Amino acid sequence: MTEATQDRIRDTGYKDHFQPEYPNVAELEEVTRKLRDMTGIATPEEILTTKQQYAGVATGANGSWILVTGPCSEPISLQQPETTFVERYTRLLQIGKASSPTSPPLHALRACGQNAKPRSAECEMLPDGSIVPSYYGDLINGIDPSDRTPDPTRMVAGALQARDVNRALRDNGQQFVSTHEALLLPYEESFIVQGAQGREFLTSCTVPWIGKRTNEPDGIHVDMLKDIENPIGIKIGPGDKPEKIAELTQKLNPSCEPGKLLYILRFGVGNLYQAPEILQSIKDHSKGALILCDPMHGNTVKTLDGRKTREVPRIIDEIKAISKMCQELGLRLHGLHLEASGRDDRVECVDSVGQSPDHTAVVDPELNNNQLAGVLEETGECFV
Ligand code: PEP
Ligand code: MN
Repeated sequence: MTEATQDRIRDTGYKDHFQPEYPNVAELEEVTRKLRDMTGIATPEEILTTKQQYAGVATGANGSWILVTGPCSEPISLQQPETTFVERYTRLLQIGKASSPTSPPLHALRACGQNAKPRSAECEMLPDGSIVPSYYGDLINGIDPSDRTPDPTRMVAGALQARDVNRALRDNGQQFVSTHEALLLPYEESFIVQGAQGREFLTSCTVPWIGKRTNEPDGIHVDMLKDIENPIGIKIGPGDKPEKIAELTQKLNPSCEPGKLLYILRFGVGNLYQAPEILQSIKDHSKGALILCDPMHGNTVKTLDGRKTREVPRIIDEIKAISKMCQELGLRLHGLHLEASGRDDRVECVDSVGQSPDHTAVVDPELNNNQLAGVLEETGECFV
């Protein structure tokens, strides 16, 4: 991290940037030294190949589309054996492939390192009325209320798990790239490496994305990623002004290289009226950018008993609506970004409006395998 970034985080407050304040700075430094010595899971060659493939999606040259699936937040777990992750992610990849046998999507897993979470509230109240710091994902602190102090050694455990699960999937012949929210600066920056001709690559995953809460064009996350060669996703949603698109493009892709930027729209059906001006701005200011729909994050609702869920009909409605808006502007919807568990045995999202989930999601409700296949079948025509 540059000193200027460090000063900025210190001056404005860690919470403003969704960064944890580690109590032991020496321990944090030791961890980042260890991380820098590790090999990331994405190679410069794979990153450049993916960008080329995404350029082919952007221009329509390869007739393909992009599917992102995976959990909201991966646990980092010694209890949960590696095989469990491998089985679930393999199911996600199979369902993606089966969804359009004639033109299978370029599949990215939001996995193998998707374990840092921005949270809307700094604290949460437990059922007994006590207040504890929020859970920020296993890369930062623990779900157990007694384990909420940020612990930097979690980053090493996360990187090792990402490496092992990624390797096991590839050894099994699975084809995918990895994607996650590049949220935690000390982690991500440790995996930025210099390639040939001084080019920079982020090797913690192939396609990092910038979250809705950290997408300010002059923010520290945009700054961190502005010189890397990877394709970069940016979540855009309610309240984001169309001018932001021009500013983000100027910062992250001034030459409008096709396939470099992926705008991931996540408005929610109630806020879709804001989407056309964003799409128009992408058309005017960000040539060659990809447009993806995340129909999950704007459509989270609470049941009467206070549990988070998402209704599958709304998810489908948002995808179809965004696809139609794209068409009306002479654009194309290039892909989907879905939270999906790879499991058969849980109902976190519900199949009809007003139904109750049978399970309380740890962070956000994910589609189960049946629901994922259903959403892809219902919306497949948007990607032919
Ligand atoms: C996410 O993708 O898990 C997420 C937090 O999304 P957003 O930044 O769009 O809210
Ligand atoms: Mn989520």
